Amino acid sequence: MNTNLQDYSHKRFNILTGEWVLVSPHRSKRPWQGQNEAIYNEQRPSHDPSCFLCAGNTRINGELNPEYKDVFVFTNDFAALQTTSPTFSLNEGLFKAESEQGICKVICFSPDHSKSLADMAIEAIDKVVKTWQKEYTTLGSNHMINYVQIFENKGAVMGCSNPHPHGQIWSQSTLPNEVEKKDQHQLEYYTNNKSSLLGDYLKQELEANERIIYQNDDFVVLTPFWAVWPFETMILPKMQKKNIAELTNKESASFADAISKITKAYDKLFECSFPYSSGIHQSPTNGQPNEYWHWHMSFYPPLLRSATVKKFMVGYEMFGSPQRDITAEQAVVRLKEII
Ligand SMILES: [Zn+2]
Repeated sequence: MNTNLQDYSHKRFNILTGEWVLVSPHRSKRPWQGQNEAIYNEQRPSHDPSCFLCAGNTRINGELNPEYKDVFVFTNDFAALQTTSPTFSLNEGLFKAESEQGICKVICFSPDHSKSLADMAIEAIDKVVKTWQKEYTTLGSNHMINYVQIFENKGAVMGCSNPHPHGQIWSQSTLPNEVEKKDQHQLEYYTNNKSSLLGDYLKQELEANERIIYQNDDFVVLTPFWAVWPFETMILPKMQKKNIAELTNKESASFADAISKITKAYDKLFECSFPYSSGIHQSPTNGQPNEYWHWHMSFYPPLLRSATVKKFMVGYEMFGSPQRDITAEQAVVRLKEII
């Protein structure tokens, strides 16, 4: 490890997006400045009669949830994208717009209102993974859908409006910005090197062994070299696969194990139900071979020093580029200790 990276300001390059992050390790050389305040972890009931996602309850639109036993998926009652909106475009001088269509779904991970992925058994998480696979395949086979975005917002701090364990799947006809950037950079690398960008990156990470948090037979959990969020992590399949639909049963169980390990470690880090946004980036469903894609799951948690101190993306981050104080390597030491 180049010790300059732990001592002095520098920029790190994100190979997937082509963007830079400013790292300022000298700002955090002092031991933890923030207090680790104990936070009251609200105990939730297993079933909340007023929750729109609990089994057997009525949703806002009047529909009744079934008495589901594990995973339950339904089309979002307040979908951001719809299949019925008209197709149009606007090209008036410098004003440009395109219509966008899609299907948005909600996926309840468990009927138990009190749980999160971190509290669920690996077998139960595997059922969530299998549902993601099925939804990716089904939505992706719709001619109108060229990309399927699976994600979860966990915790009120991430704007999650309901504590019931759930995620979302937004599928649409075009590639969103982040996916477009990753698509381009992976394609460019594959064209020039005839190998997967993230596959080669993973080889280098395994050799360096400085940012690896956990690994099993099929997956590695690491903090990317270019991580922006203080405790950001990525779950990366060891074998290059374009999307989650290509996972075997053994691999989906390994993926569930990796999710379980990192979410449990997050909860222990600041002794709270750890908030984050997580998402899976994978190959578009546009009918192309997309052989350069290497799917992965990312966790972007906002907490910095304790359950009550979060990182703000303001000022320089809004006007310049993302910035972090603790280095990726320092964050890895803490997460690795817990796992
Ligand atoms: Zn609920």
